[in-house]
Formats: sequence, structure tokens, C-alpha cells
Amino acid sequence: MDVKVHVSTGAGVDIAWSDGHTSHFDFVYLRELCPCALCNDEREKKGKFSSATGGSALPMFKARVTAKGASAVGNYALSIQFSDGHATGIYSFEHLREICPCEKCGVEFRGGVTHVVKN
Ligand SMILES: [Zn+2]
Ligand SMILES: [Zn+2]
Repeated sequence: MDVKVHVSTGAGVDIAWSDGHTSHFDFVYLRELCPCALCNDEREKKGKFSSATGGSALPMFKARVTAKGASAVGNYALSIQFSDGHATGIYSFEHLREICPCEKCGVEFRGGVTHVVKN
């Protein structure tokens, strides 16, 4: 498989999987779905908050996140240093395949749920 992280252009991450599938991830998308404990917590809180207020809590303003750098973690994961200073997220390739934003993977891994991240 082939992993390309477009740090300088801010275009995101492209992965060509060993089974021939290709995925493209925006940095914004990856930041939103950061798998670290901190962000898991945050998402949980947000979820509780929005259900408590009965509406979808859209952020007032969200700066477009890009990446300052990225590095491989062993041969199983990718670590991304985001422009907002967040760098604790370790994206295992297994996880990345599961959050592949394409429709096909949505059906295969998430029962048809496609993550939508608005900029
Ligand atoms: Zn995080
Ligand atoms: Zn896919």
C-alpha cells in the first residue's frame, strides 16, 4: 500500500490500499475524527451537549485545519501534527480504512453512515 501525506499543499492524505482501493482524507476530516482520548472525550461531550439542547451544535467558527507535519508510527499507523497544535492523534491504517469517506466504505464499515465534515 502507498501512503501520501500532502503537508505542504494542505491537500490531505491519500492512501492506495493493498486491495486496490484508494482513499482521500482532508486534514479537517482527520482532525475531526482524531482517535486520541482527548478528542474522544470532546466528541462525547459535544454529543451530550447537542442532544441536551435538542439541536445540532454547529461551531460558530472553525478555522481550516491543515497539517504541519506527519510521521509514520511503525508500519501500522500515521501520526499527524495539525496546524492547531494538536499532535496526539495516532491514526492506525485499520482505523483510516474504517473512516474512509467514500460511499462504498461507508456501507462496508459503517452501515451506510457517511461522515460529513463541513468546513
Ligand atoms: Zn485528538
Ligand atoms: Zn473507501
